[in-house]
Amino acid sequence: MNSYVSHLECAYSGKRYDAGEIHTISEIGKPIIVKYDLQRISAEIPRSTIESSNEPGFWRYSPLLPVSSEQNRVKLGEVVTPIISLENSNSILGFDAKSVYVKDESRLPTGSFKARGLGMAVSMAKELGVSHLAIPTNGNAGSALAAYATRAGIECTVLCPDNTPEINVRETQMQGASTHLVNGLIGECGKIIADGTEEMDWFAVSTLKEPYRIEGKKTMGLELAEQMGWKLPDVIFYPTGGGTGIIGMWKGFQELIELGWIDDKLPRMIAVQSTGCAPIVRAWEAGEEFAEYWEDAETVSSGIRVPSALGDFLILDSVRSSGGYAISVTDDETLEMQRQIGLNEGLLLCPEGAATVAAYRNSVESGLVSTSESVVLFNTATGLKYPMPEVFSNIDKSNVEYSIFKTK
Ligand SMILES: *Cc1c(COP(=O)(O)O)cnc(C)c1O
Repeated sequence: MNSYVSHLECAYSGKRYDAGEIHTISEIGKPIIVKYDLQRISAEIPRSTIESSNEPGFWRYSPLLPVSSEQNRVKLGEVVTPIISLENSNSILGFDAKSVYVKDESRLPTGSFKARGLGMAVSMAKELGVSHLAIPTNGNAGSALAAYATRAGIECTVLCPDNTPEINVRETQMQGASTHLVNGLIGECGKIIADGTEEMDWFAVSTLKEPYRIEGKKTMGLELAEQMGWKLPDVIFYPTGGGTGIIGMWKGFQELIELGWIDDKLPRMIAVQSTGCAPIVRAWEAGEEFAEYWEDAETVSSGIRVPSALGDFLILDSVRSSGGYAISVTDDETLEMQRQIGLNEGLLLCPEGAATVAAYRNSVESGLVSTSESVVLFNTATGLKYPMPEVFSNIDKSNVEYSIFKTK
């Protein structure tokens, strides 16, 4: 089987690049994106083919993905991630909201949505004959790359800042990557990898510095559309760091419209950041095309602690053309929402996911979103990977006081 990729192009200048070759960034230093022969897909693949696919996860969208050969699809048991309605919005948010859903990406291999992008990048690396991959990471990307590269038999080197959460570093090593802590920031890890390319002959899979992670992330949008009966919610809240998720979903929606698989009523895309690192929000508010570097970035939501994004103009474009906006929330608000969702719904969100809940609540309170609108909040990883409060209640087995169990 061949893929339906027609060519690739610079997302800024539109300069064309050929399919079937290894690409990084474009001549002018911007991301390169994948283009498909959508007319041919439309003629050859009815939507029902997707619906009846036996593939349980994102590989069910293969006609819209860049991998040509079935044997190059690297798999680790991907699933269609559930959308779970909030049943107790009043207790959590302080108002009734009828159709608010969490799309729970924690169910994917390695416990985060990073599996989508890195699964795709590794599969394309396999197809193009790359033998060694390297990545700078703050956490979830490293373990996802490690898992898929190991599965594919590709060598993998991961460089993390030495303050990366220990669990991410250890899971990465346990899944077969050569794992190293660097006394510097993620950008400096990236520089070590770039500078070593000649000597090591490795290929860097930094965010948006290769074309295929976006294609994997795009499947969040395709999956959401299929799951909702080829309709989309009114509003999507997405925790935005490097922006692959929001850019990918927006790209996927355009492709679905061109295929005639959905109508053109698209969701407003809301980019959620932390007040401790909000370069996209600042650029959005100032009406800028690009976002400036955010100094001294700090937030508990480590997945969105990204001070500078190569795809900044693409994030801002999807937000603007969808009629959405960018919004930041404090870590206190995030942690409070994480707690409330756990206490009231039995869902342990990651802080990035909880940030979208806080952003939704604040948006309703300020009138940006109405409670009658349908909303999807993305929980991008499992809460199990993050620090949690201690349990302080100790019981002496020889002297049990039952009154302490009475909570009402
Ligand atoms: C990486 C990451 C994000 C942000 O990713 P984008 O590239 O902006 O899509 C959000 N949440 C978590 C948990 C992450 O690991």
